[in-house]
Amino acid sequence: MNPEHAAARVELVAPLTGPVVPLASVPDPVFSEGLFGDGIGVDPLVGRLVAPCDGTVMHLARTGHAVTLQSAEGAQILVHIGIDTVELNGKGFTPQVEQGAQVRRGDLLIEFDLDIVACHAPSLVSVIAIANSDAFEVVERAGAGHVRAGETTLLVLRARDGAAVEASVTNVVMEEVRRTVTLAHAGGLHARPAARAREAVRGLEARVEVRYGERKAAIESVVGLLGLGAGEGATIELVGMGREAQKAVDAVAGELLREAPGEVSETPARELSPAPLAAAPAAANAQTAQQRAQQSAPGTLMGVCAAPGVAVGKLVRWDDAELTPPELASGTPAAESRLLDKAVAAIDAELEASVRTASQRGAIGEAGIFQMHRVLLEDPTLIDAARDLISLGKSAGFAWREAIRAQIAVLGKVDDPLLAERAADLRDLEKRVLRSLAYTSGAAGANGAAQRELPDEAVLAADEFTPSDLATLDRTRVTALVMARGGATSHAAIIARQAGIPALVALGDALHQIEEGAQVIVDASAGRFAFAPGAADIERARTEKQRLAGVREANRRTSHEAAATRDGHAVEVAANIATLDDARTAVDNGADAVGLLRTELMFIHRQAAPTVEEHRQSYQAIAEALAGRTAIIRTLDVGADKEVDYLTLPPEPNPALGLRGIRLAQVRPDLLDDQLRGLVAVKPEGALRILLPMVTDVGELVHLRERIDAFAREAGRSTRVEVGVMIEVPSAALLADQLARHADFLSIGTNDLTQYTLAMDRCQPDLAAQADGLHPAVLRLVAIAVEGARKHGKWVGVCGALAGDPLAVPLLVGLGVTELSVDPVSVPSIKARVRKLDYALCRDRAQDVLMLESAQDVRAASRANWPLD
Ligand code: PEP
Ligand code: MG
Repeated sequence: MNPEHAAARVELVAPLTGPVVPLASVPDPVFSEGLFGDGIGVDPLVGRLVAPCDGTVMHLARTGHAVTLQSAEGAQILVHIGIDTVELNGKGFTPQVEQGAQVRRGDLLIEFDLDIVACHAPSLVSVIAIANSDAFEVVERAGAGHVRAGETTLLVLRARDGAAVEASVTNVVMEEVRRTVTLAHAGGLHARPAARAREAVRGLEARVEVRYGERKAAIESVVGLLGLGAGEGATIELVGMGREAQKAVDAVAGELLREAPGEVSETPARELSPAPLAAAPAAANAQTAQQRAQQSAPGTLMGVCAAPGVAVGKLVRWDDAELTPPELASGTPAAESRLLDKAVAAIDAELEASVRTASQRGAIGEAGIFQMHRVLLEDPTLIDAARDLISLGKSAGFAWREAIRAQIAVLGKVDDPLLAERAADLRDLEKRVLRSLAYTSGAAGANGAAQRELPDEAVLAADEFTPSDLATLDRTRVTALVMARGGATSHAAIIARQAGIPALVALGDALHQIEEGAQVIVDASAGRFAFAPGAADIERARTEKQRLAGVREANRRTSHEAAATRDGHAVEVAANIATLDDARTAVDNGADAVGLLRTELMFIHRQAAPTVEEHRQSYQAIAEALAGRTAIIRTLDVGADKEVDYLTLPPEPNPALGLRGIRLAQVRPDLLDDQLRGLVAVKPEGALRILLPMVTDVGELVHLRERIDAFAREAGRSTRVEVGVMIEVPSAALLADQLARHADFLSIGTNDLTQYTLAMDRCQPDLAAQADGLHPAVLRLVAIAVEGARKHGKWVGVCGALAGDPLAVPLLVGLGVTELSVDPVSVPSIKARVRKLDYALCRDRAQDVLMLESAQDVRAASRANWPLD
């Protein structure tokens, strides 16, 4: 190592005379973002550039507007006069030295004509940047004020470490590289080559600008590149700046000059609706939404049943009409920025999944389009514009919408049909991000369904309904719900079932292409959505709807009687509820009890957590509405797919495996304590039982049991509160015998038990058909749980969606489950189903199905033994 470089300190005097400009304020991101290294700006008042230190002229721009000097210590100092002055092509600049010359501090290097530069460049502000900032750091810099060329100290540098200096001095210094390229692509500089070109320079220390006529755009901005309007045959200029400028410009040129193998001409995303094929195959199991879509008959989409039934009605787009974000932010700019980041990241993840599934199917063109959407989504032009608006106090949604619309307007000025399609893509991204920001949500305030005029028999369509959307639905007008995404055990699906509204999930993005107001048929039980039905189809659907209504009516007539199998084995059929209204519906429908009160809804629509007294009042009202029937109240189970506005929990990389259920008490014990205190105060003492969600082992149960007992004593209770455990985590099922020693009962949550056993996200639409609770692995865990409970004489219920599945009922009963807790509207049909069973046969067959190899096999066996109505 050259000893001169060790512990080197370099003092630089101002090379120009004028006021100091902090680097961050230099009006060119190339400099202000430090791409050329750390440094400082000067707004020159005199047209003379002098050497800031003794050194060698490493590089003198051909056009005379910039010079790089290397000091004896190895520091490389770039002085760049004005902004975009390369454009002047030497006009107004007179270099006074040659490249390679040795110079002394204060020697004149370049003379320039201030007037010419001021008139022809965007700014005169000049930059002094340390090109090898990895080797030299700035330890002092001139503050605000005026500096004099050759006199005032501007920067003091210190070598970081010798090795870095050695390495850096051998590098090529600043370069500005230009290259012209004539576009041979059909379509010119369209989105895919633009995206590829951008990828080609990622990670290089250089900035590339593309110029076409008067327009220019940074290579990072695909939207900006499209806005150049450079069509086939256009000659564009690439201008590279930075240490690796040559490499970057060559890489971009290479991408723009090649047509990717297998590349197809661009297809607008709107045309991605499924190719109409022949009739749909019988089984929709184990297929992705896209596979189902491809296999659907013309005019239909296939989805997954989330709530059974048949409906005919008019399609109403829930999301489109609701995408009006408030202009002003309700949070700080930092909070709004975070919201935007989160929404953009969520959409990016969705798009990534779409790219993957399309690629797996070999649909390269389609994958390319989704990939391009990802590129647009992270376009700095959009993100920066949105952030600027957010910093002015606008909401994240408003800022995003405006940023997108500004770019759509730019594209609109270019006369090119392909670019008009890109505008459609941007609009799609606008909506997706706004949806993700939850501007469709009823919880957001005045946007709820209750406030919206809905036609009679409205079939509401959305990407995915949130539980809070559905909580405010006008149930008298909504005849069905259809979603592009979502899973059959998601909370939106559960709420739809509770409301008795037929619902289909996982219909895929093609749902968004269907026209508002179209007459549609939802045959939820068959997983079919017909968006172009003929008169005969509508007639048939109405007849089927009527038949089902007849069966329902017959079931209702006996629903208030207890249910037992034909050979006298009693099965309690209880209801899953979430509100006081549901409690009344449960009673109306003949529920023997409430098997699960999900208390989350009571937490969702609020500004703050309920107080102890508010809890008590809510549960008291429910106990009274149940008129002597018992209720199992589950403590708060937020987290994962259940979000609560006022609970700002730290973001988790994997919320389904994070702080949810009773684990929330680890960070917010107050929430659970207040709820438990409210619960133990309800009268009469036996009216309620407490159920604990997401228990994984005995320690958690024992700890909470003690707490509940202490609160009960505090409240002056004379009896013990019955406490049960949700079996919804495989560990809990496997340890059921240990849990049953301390619990009064077990309640199997098959929704989560399925999710965690099969490692399939319950909200992932592409897995909706596979995440089946009748999988033999899940049934074996049910069998283990029942066995464990039996050892201690405890009873077991099922409160997951499986309890309401007619094909599951005989098997659950056969495995020894004695309570089925289902949506209130399903109580009559499940009671009717139980009454048709023979317990001895159920027991035998249930053991047999444990040996089967797939959920489909189990379903087939159940259907063969106990045909559906
Ligand atoms: C379950 O997991 O099956 C259950 C009943 O709980 P939730 O659906 O509320 O998560
Ligand atoms: Mg659960």
